[in-house]
Amino acid sequence: MRIIALAAAFAIATPALAEDLSAQYLAEFFGPIQELSIANEREYCGYFGYNDAGEVIATKPKKGLEDSCQAEPSDEMVEVIASYHTHGAFHYEADAETPSSTDLEADLDEGVDGYVATPGGRIWMNDYDTERAIMLCGRNCTVSDPDYDSTAFPPVNGSYDLDGLYDRDESSDDY
Ligand SMILES: [Zn+2]
Repeated sequence: MRIIALAAAFAIATPALAEDLSAQYLAEFFGPIQELSIANEREYCGYFGYNDAGEVIATKPKKGLEDSCQAEPSDEMVEVIASYHTHGAFHYEADAETPSSTDLEADLDEGVDGYVATPGGRIWMNDYDTERAIMLCGRNCTVSDPDYDSTAFPPVNGSYDLDGLYDRDESSDDY
């Protein structure tokens, strides 16, 4: 996995990538997955990669648990670009508006970027190169949970490094 991932990291400079995985593309991509994820209160996850024609393809979203999800890249992917997952429905017990520290750690370990959609309809990129979670687009960028309450947790910053996500994990416990 690590070896495949490193090969992918070298290929990431392909100019087509920025367009293929634009915020607008991702907002549409995540829309129907968010509907399922919020209705079923489960995370859904998968991978983006290149097929042998150099096109970006995505695996079918896999249904996970309430706060975790495991998927595998597809055999058609000659290079894995990124993981993706949703965060299910809004709950007052869980601050899910950013990638978790575990989410960022997992992508860095696998050597891929990661895309995360939240109950508030935000889309994040875990950026392998800068080791940061970066908000690509904000509230209601994609389908969101009608029950989302923006006052339930601390305001969301535009980006976080791993330490920032650890701090948010701790401060959210007080809410
Ligand atoms: Zn997550």
